[in-house]
Amino acid sequence: MSDTTRVYSYSAVLMGSPILLKLFSHDEALASRVFRLIKQYEDLLTVNRAQSQVMDINHAAGKHSVSVSGPVYALIKCAKAASTLPDSAFNLAIGPLVKRWRIGFRGDTVPPAQDIARLLALTNPNQVVLNDAEQSVYLALPEMEIDLGAIAKGYIADRVRDYLHQEGVAQGLINLGGNVQTLGSPEGGWSIGLKKPFSTSGSMIGSLEIANKSVVTSGVYERFFEHNGQIYHHILDPRTGYPLNNELDSVTIISEDSIDGDIWTTLMYGMGVEKGCAALRKRPDIEAIFVTKAKEVVLSSSHHYRFTLLDNDYRLTGSTV
Ligand code: FAD
Ligand code: MG
Repeated sequence: MSDTTRVYSYSAVLMGSPILLKLFSHDEALASRVFRLIKQYEDLLTVNRAQSQVMDINHAAGKHSVSVSGPVYALIKCAKAASTLPDSAFNLAIGPLVKRWRIGFRGDTVPPAQDIARLLALTNPNQVVLNDAEQSVYLALPEMEIDLGAIAKGYIADRVRDYLHQEGVAQGLINLGGNVQTLGSPEGGWSIGLKKPFSTSGSMIGSLEIANKSVVTSGVYERFFEHNGQIYHHILDPRTGYPLNNELDSVTIISEDSIDGDIWTTLMYGMGVEKGCAALRKRPDIEAIFVTKAKEVVLSSSHHYRFTLLDNDYRLTGSTV
């Protein structure tokens, strides 16, 4: 970016996450409208309060279907489709387990194995019954719960991008606690840092230069707790009910839409590096950066961004599949 270009940053805390908006003009009124828009979506989609449209569905589990607004229905439909892909690690019905583990919230614990087994039986995404004509959702078993924590920020980031477009903003950036969506291409592109896992000083492994793209990172270091020397993080394996345990510390997805970034970070987390890179061969519009526990940074491809390694403890490799 040239020195003469001024960037104005606006911040807020919404959805329990730091939110950052960058604009090239000083426009506090616009920033307030953007934060209000995010808050409106939070109010519809949250499962961290007793009332929201998603909570209305959860409260009616095993009893009756609930008609919801167009955006909530569309997002749930999209989340169900991602959940029912073959071998998907994404599961919108993971709610009962998320609530039991409470990872990232006060009272986090390792639940007894029999609790996990009982709750796993309440997480079948095929038992989220959708009715397009009524825009209604029915959870077939009592105590089932939808949780959109792995997809809602991506969806909202895309809505913020669309709103800024509509307001005539040509260049801007929104960061919803790790979901970055950008408009336009400032001189040199947008530079986005890739966080070093578990670093307390905010160090970066590298940086990405992008334009008009979304960058979503999902990492085991974002929300976790330690118990008896073991780390329990917030991305749960829908097959076992325990945190996904593999070679990865984080996955970053570069894509057009942030909702795809959100879905694919979870899918890639489930597949790991090798299977993930193979799956992305069929999706040239979606690119991944895997950071492994062995301190490797693997790029599935890099057609739509430029990556610069900044930390010599890490080794940069391309996909071998
Ligand atoms: P991602 O990897 O994208 O998602 C992980 C989250 O998805 C988990 O935290 C869990 O909620 C869910 N999940 C876990 N495993 C799976 C799986 N296999 N498939 C699908 N989903 C899974 N945080 C607060 O502390 N306080 C709040 O009040 C609060 N309100 C929120 C309101 C909204 C509308 C949203 C979207 C989030 C809110 N959050 C809040 C944050 C939320 O609890 C999650 O921590 C956050 O969404 C995780 O996003 P991520 O990008 O870090 O991780
Ligand atoms: Mg996600």
